[in-house]
Amino acid sequence: MSTVNERRIEELARERTLPAGELAALLSTLTDGEAELLYARSREVRERYYGKDVYLRGLIEFTSHCRNDCLYCGLRRSNARAERYRLSEEQILACCDQGYELDFRTFVLQGGEDVAFTDDVVCDLVRKIRARHPDCAVTLSIGERPRESYERFFEAGAERYLLRQETSNPWHYGRLHPAELSIANRKRCLRDLKEIGYQVGCGIMVGSPYQTWDFVEEDLRYMADLQPEMVGIGPFIPHKDTPFANFSAGTLEDTLHLLAVIRLMLPEVLLPATTALGTIDPRGRELGLLAGANVVMPNLSPRDVRAKYLLYDGKICTGDEAAECRLCMARRCASVGYEVKVCRGDHVSRQRVASEAEAPSLAAAGGTDASGGCPLVESLGRGLG
Ligand code: SAH
Repeated sequence: MSTVNERRIEELARERTLPAGELAALLSTLTDGEAELLYARSREVRERYYGKDVYLRGLIEFTSHCRNDCLYCGLRRSNARAERYRLSEEQILACCDQGYELDFRTFVLQGGEDVAFTDDVVCDLVRKIRARHPDCAVTLSIGERPRESYERFFEAGAERYLLRQETSNPWHYGRLHPAELSIANRKRCLRDLKEIGYQVGCGIMVGSPYQTWDFVEEDLRYMADLQPEMVGIGPFIPHKDTPFANFSAGTLEDTLHLLAVIRLMLPEVLLPATTALGTIDPRGRELGLLAGANVVMPNLSPRDVRAKYLLYDGKICTGDEAAECRLCMARRCASVGYEVKVCRGDHVSRQRVASEAEAPSLAAAGGTDASGGCPLVESLGRGLG
């Protein structure tokens, strides 16, 4: 005899959705035993599209200056205790060069909304990275800008953009953000990015203050509608110098459940096991992979600035060198039966496009599988440590 939730899980795996209210019902009542079924279904789907591959993203936290005042974030402008820094172009390019040596083929430039990084500066940077490393993808995660700016970045060679909606519910959005920010503009940005042709990532914090399961269901339905190529989710973790200092963090279990549900709703999605998940539990990222995640984002920022990019308290890996993080990540993936793949790691729909252009006969013969846009896959461990 299967339980109501087990039936919901099978229906979700089959239909990629559930009737109104049932996503919230599932997530709010799931037992440990039922969660195992959810993870098993999620892994099946993940392995159908991506095999055992895990894609690497090199995260470069290039500025901690921010004009915004999001209530949850340690980098908010009213946090006078935050240490501010900004990497120079030379430093950012050096991070990419080092990252390339360490097998990274995607660089994620993330930062606060720093007015010093004008459209011209960002375009210049993207062009230089693409020219030095033509076989690498550049992902931007620099917040809300006008559509024209996104168009310029895309022309300069940025192909992916991460912009979490944080919450799709307008009331909840207003609890997490100052009045000058709106969910309407956030969604406008995501829609523009999609239309321009980026591989787009949205996402939320799990267990953020005032979040309810009904709001999470709204988020899931927003994702089903947007069809993002990537979804970034991690637990909310309080930062001591923010108004949310005394709220509790999101839980490991809730985050794992949600990763698995997202995998079933968006089977081909690129889904990172985030640093925040690794921060609330020492094996959080490994468990994230076992719940359906297929991306990890080790830190490539220079060691001396890592502790200054504090979105939340307790962030891991702030004292490590990039090479250590890289090796550590390969070990962590291997410990749960997955393997880091050296390639750009595009969304499967884009891999099809790329391989059709390069090798039409191969694609026509159904020759693309879980190769991640990297026909000549090298395995790992080479030249490290
Ligand atoms: N300025 C960029 C990048 C923000 S940092 C932008 O607006 O998109 C990237 C993500 O970190 C945010 O989208 C948010 O979801 C997450 N984050 C911020 N503060 C956090 C906290 N206290 N706990 C967990 N995640 C947090």
